[in-house]
Amino acid sequence: LLMAYEPAKRLSRMRVSIEAGMVGVRMMYELLDQPQTMLERPGATDLRDGAGEVRLDGVRFGYAEDKPVIDGMDLTFEAGKMTALVGPSGGGKSTVLNLVMRLYDPHAGRVLIDGQDIADATFASLRKRIAFVGQDTFLFSTSVMENLRFGRPGASDEEVIEAARTAHADEFIRTLPQGYDTPVGENGSFLSGGQRQRIAIARAVLRRAPILLLDEATSALDSHSEALVRDALERISRGVTTIVIAHRLSTVLNADTVCYLEGGRVLEQGPVDELLARGGPFRALFDEQFGHAGRIAAG
Ligand code: ADP
Ligand code: MG
Repeated sequence: LLMAYEPAKRLSRMRVSIEAGMVGVRMMYELLDQPQTMLERPGATDLRDGAGEVRLDGVRFGYAEDKPVIDGMDLTFEAGKMTALVGPSGGGKSTVLNLVMRLYDPHAGRVLIDGQDIADATFASLRKRIAFVGQDTFLFSTSVMENLRFGRPGASDEEVIEAARTAHADEFIRTLPQGYDTPVGENGSFLSGGQRQRIAIARAVLRRAPILLLDEATSALDSHSEALVRDALERISRGVTTIVIAHRLSTVLNADTVCYLEGGRVLEQGPVDELLARGGPFRALFDEQFGHAGRIAAG
């Protein structure tokens, strides 16, 4: 509860700058429950455009110096492909996403986007590359339209509505009393979990980022909402480098590659059918999490 409360507090302190129109990509990072302790390096340069390959090269990292959480990791996320991160809780999945967003610097090794060390990049150029959809969606007590527009301040109403269509948000928004002008309530309390998630996805669509990071919700959505969220995520991840912390069977089966993390190490990586056939730790986790339904779905 505290974790959810802290960033909200931080955000309310930022209202002044938000209302002054200062909300940019930076804001999307502020939505994460992470300290803003990073500094841009002197002489930092903009990342050059590229296909969106993400690579961890000999990365070591721990939140405390003496407690490694990522322990010498070499891992490539292929451009335009979807990789599902799976593994037991505490295995380092969220930490990998944190490092890719440069919320922290590795203690050793590098995180590269299209071959460029992100530690040398400007924050603005890094944030332009990355969209993040997390477990909680931060909503401001303003209209649906303005909440969506946080994805890309300056987007036209038409662009916002188009993004909402892609995210399967348009259909529920049109049923609200004032459509896109409906206030969402204090932190979106008038909306359901599935609706809030689709708002987050629409924001990510507006970002048009070549790299998409998803921390899939663990909480159960109703099956109608879940199907719409799943379809929306499929739409926006097409041709985009997607790294998803996967909790749902459908996501795991959908990914091009599965990467099994445990104890800050990659124990297995490959297409889901190969890993299932191998009968290693991924197979054990898969059977435990998805059981009979998983075996049938995986064929
Ligand atoms: P996963 O997402 O696979 O559950 P995490 O990356 O969240 O794993 O966590 C990996 C390890 O790092 C865990 O031992 C966790 O307790 C620790 N950890 C995660 N976030 C923080 C943090 N902000 N401060 C200190 N320790 C953390
Ligand atoms: Mg996590």
